Amino acid sequence: MAKEKSIKEIEDLPGIGPTTAEKLKEAGYTTLEKIAVSSPHELAELSGMNVESAKKAIEAARQSTTIDFSTGTQVYENRKALGRVTTNAKELDELLGGGVEAKSITEAYGKFGSGKTQLGFQLAVNAQMPLGKGGLDGRVLFIDTEGTFRPERIEQIAKAAEMDPQAALDNILVVRAENTEQQILTIERADKAIRDNNIKMIIVDSMMALFRSEFLGRGALGERQQKLNAHIHKLQSLADTYNLAVYFTNQVMDNPGILFGDPTTPVGGNIIAHAATTRLYLRKSKEEKRIVRLVDSPSQPEGEAVIKITQNGIRD
Ligand code: ADP
Ligand code: MG
Repeated sequence: MAKEKSIKEIEDLPGIGPTTAEKLKEAGYTTLEKIAVSSPHELAELSGMNVESAKKAIEAARQSTTIDFSTGTQVYENRKALGRVTTNAKELDELLGGGVEAKSITEAYGKFGSGKTQLGFQLAVNAQMPLGKGGLDGRVLFIDTEGTFRPERIEQIAKAAEMDPQAALDNILVVRAENTEQQILTIERADKAIRDNNIKMIIVDSMMALFRSEFLGRGALGERQQKLNAHIHKLQSLADTYNLAVYFTNQVMDNPGILFGDPTTPVGGNIIAHAATTRLYLRKSKEEKRIVRLVDSPSQPEGEAVIKITQNGIRD
């Protein structure tokens, strides 16, 4: 019994030496809790240890972790302490309850030209700002699946925010994903990059473009949704583990089942519908104006905000 009490880190588990521990940490298995809920096969595969040893390590991790209950008050305090990234538009920030939230996934869907990417650029700049000043004081991982990342726009937006444009660009790590494998692997292997670079925001622009073009037809739908599910799951786990914000954009289609009202529906089916904690629907209005509708939020009422896309970025 006394032996188990001394297990405080994953290195203390039976069968896990420094090399194995390092492999596990790189895969994001940084805590005893994470080991305790893993399966022997996944642990064995990740660490190179055999399944029997993995079972023993998991059992030891389970015995050395306790379930931490929090009171509602503690949860409330923790939620108030959550970082938020400002969108630069007061009305939209208010709609979101203070901005785009850390430890959670925010989706923006809408037609071509509705401002999804522009909002992503603004967030990529703002996330770098200090905590309490509308940012998360960290770097940004930007996965560009459509080839629409524009450093010129980052430069303009950063200048308008009185930031050093060079520094703002240096703080954004861009991955141009050409296929779903690259998109998936970037997220799958992001743990180390996130820790090494203090990444506090991940942007995926867009989530579904490559999945849609690669998995065509009904027959491929099952496989597509399965891969998508794992991808989203990993994104959520990164958000939780590293206290970072995830923003992804999504394409739309016209749902023929909707006879009255707006038939515009985000693509990706149920997996995507459940992926985001907060869903925003962007649509064009007059000139530079865009209407942002909060469609789904665990704590904020549905509503709309009007934003403008300007040379300087997003504005009220
Ligand atoms: P999508 O929803 O397809 O990602 P975008 O976010 O790329 O759409 O929005 C494109 C729109 O943003 C353009 O149609 C234009 O109205 C606006 N925009 C892009 N660059 C600028 C700029 N430098 N100044 C003002 N508006 C811009
Ligand atoms: Mg776009």
